[in-house]
Amino acid sequence: MHEFSTMEGIVSAIREEGKKHNAKAITKVWLEIGELTFLGEEQLRFAFEVLTKGTEMEGAELVIEKVAPKVRCKCGYEGNVNYDEKEEFHIQFPILKCPLCGSDVEITSGRECLIKNIEIEVEDVPYER
Ligand SMILES: [Zn+2]
Repeated sequence: MHEFSTMEGIVSAIREEGKKHNAKAITKVWLEIGELTFLGEEQLRFAFEVLTKGTEMEGAELVIEKVAPKVRCKCGYEGNVNYDEKEEFHIQFPILKCPLCGSDVEITSGRECLIKNIEIEVEDVPYER
């Protein structure tokens, strides 16, 4: 299960980050997931729930921002790609060819799997007199 191992890495990186900031709890997480990773959002959410259970991240809100694929072509085109609609699967497959000239292209975005931001609760710092 690709989503599970991906989320395992993400969750451990977030917990590591939380520790660095003395987080008592991690309450919200923003992820940027490129469409070309082909990671299923539902599976990611499920993995997140399982992996954070019983940790300082339990119950954290998960925000997933999908990043559309973008390409650059030697003809000068730079931007979005066309999609091949497979209605029988209710899925749109990005076509990784230049929409203008049909050449192979360089992918400039859509493969990211990033932790964009996290929201933490920190331990109250004892007041010193
Ligand atoms: Zn082109």
